[in-house]
Amino acid sequence: MSCTEKNRLLQEYSAATQRLSQVVARYGASLGLAPLERVQVEKIVEEARRIYGQTMAALEAHLLHHGC
Ligand SMILES: [Zn+2]
Repeated sequence: MSCTEKNRLLQEYSAATQRLSQVVARYGASLGLAPLERVQVEKIVEEARRIYGQTMAALEAHLLHHGC
């Protein structure tokens, strides 16, 4: 049986995972940036991590409550 909500959450989770790894790859390559630029990049990484954590928590909560 497939659960549409679970599929939606899985898609969001996988998109967030991709986004985070892209952002981290970019951040790793930008160590030579000026301090101001580094701060901006760190904010982008932080935001991607936050979204990743949210989608993971939402997926886990759904699996737990829905039992699917
Ligand atoms: Zn479900």
